[in-house]
Amino acid sequence: MIPLMLSTLAQVLDAKLVGDDKQVLSLSTDSRNIGEQGAFLALIGERFDGHQFAQTAIDNGALSLIVSRKLDDVPATVSQLIVADTHQALGLIGEFVCQQVNPRRVALTGSNGKTTVKEMVAAILSQQHEVLFTAGNFNNDIGVPLTLLRLQHQHEYGVFELGANHQGEINYTSSLVSPEVALVNNIGHAHLEGFGSQQGIAQAKSEIFNHLTSDGTAIINADDAYASFLSDKAKAFKQLWFSKSQADKADVTASKIVADNQGCYQFLLGYQGQSLQVNLPLPGEHQVSNALAAASTCFALGVQIDVVASGLNQLKPVKGRMQPHALGRFLLVDDSYNANPSSVQAAIDWLQQRDGYRALVLGDLGELGDNAAPLHAELGKHAKQAQLDGLFCAGKLTRNTSEEFGAEHFEQVADLVPSLVATLNRSQGQVTVLVKGSRSAAMERVIIELQNAF
Ligand code: ATP
Ligand code: MG
Repeated sequence: MIPLMLSTLAQVLDAKLVGDDKQVLSLSTDSRNIGEQGAFLALIGERFDGHQFAQTAIDNGALSLIVSRKLDDVPATVSQLIVADTHQALGLIGEFVCQQVNPRRVALTGSNGKTTVKEMVAAILSQQHEVLFTAGNFNNDIGVPLTLLRLQHQHEYGVFELGANHQGEINYTSSLVSPEVALVNNIGHAHLEGFGSQQGIAQAKSEIFNHLTSDGTAIINADDAYASFLSDKAKAFKQLWFSKSQADKADVTASKIVADNQGCYQFLLGYQGQSLQVNLPLPGEHQVSNALAAASTCFALGVQIDVVASGLNQLKPVKGRMQPHALGRFLLVDDSYNANPSSVQAAIDWLQQRDGYRALVLGDLGELGDNAAPLHAELGKHAKQAQLDGLFCAGKLTRNTSEEFGAEHFEQVADLVPSLVATLNRSQGQVTVLVKGSRSAAMERVIIELQNAF
């Protein structure tokens, strides 16, 4: 974090300072993890009250506390900033740090591919600039402010992933970021539980345009069913549209799309009459769409097409996201990081294009609310329509998937593995196994078992 005086924060937060004014060099909400010249900010959650951990924070070196009630029994050397609401204070400090550093800023959301597109944009920009970008999945109303706090004066760009579990969350996080470029990658069924409908999801994601700077650019996915809805929400702004199939509708396009034998895609990236070859090192056709989203975001920032292409060509696979493991004639693809119905559909589409024996290994998808059973059944139907050769599901909800496909079902990963290994042993020629499920299903266990078995 940039150095901040407690007296400055007191002004920003309209807070009362108890004790000496000090310079703060780091801020943490985790009492076990206090940095140099650190302040501890006590969040209040549903199941915990951070104020109870203030002593632990002090024991771990905290020199200042940001609290919503003055704590007694605190050594006189420890200063306290008393704020109205610590959660809100965290956001305000993040916003203040962002204004002080003032990097060029990008915010992106969508049901699928947020982290992937964020990594792509960061990889493109990092070739020539200092870039701060969201670590992992720190994309909620706590993670975004914590990300903003990591800004340093050398950062020229900030790339922020915004996630939504409820209406209003992205309105809030995007208000902290005030991006110059905002992207909604796509609208799917993710986290249906909190939104009721797909329209509800589109509405929640469209909040990312609420705080675009007045000369900012909205990035629209022309291939998404909600493209015109989102475009309408961003009608006050410049827009850049991308598409991998409708060149006439888009500013940024992909043509001559072909896959190599590892399932990685190559295409001709087009923008403003220029075109350049892109060879994506990540498997999956949906990566073409993600690459176009990232390219559009960078074009909106004024990046040249050759820089965009070379950034995309040098991407590194991320653990658990379509991560290929080649084991002789077996290609195992670890996509176990997370799943929702549209990302499973994308995985099925990708498998369908592969030659040889193709199996999907699937764990339960969480957070689907009342629709969980039919949505799981639908995936079985898709897998059948795609004529996959094998479907191996473990869990409670995926029983619906197995039944619809007509496959044997397994309660546990431990039951599934022997059957999968036996099937693979009997197979001949090229084999592709894609492993996927919600984070809670921890399907990477299957990859580990297969690596041990072969
Ligand atoms: P989260 O909501 O967990 O933060 P995310 O939106 O950040 O997810 P990623 O982590 O980038 O998404 O990708 C998650 C999975 O979604 C990938 O492993 C892949 O299977 C799928 N996916 C990625 N991009 C797309 C896309 N454009 N369309 C459909 N599915 C996609
Ligand atoms: Mg993510």
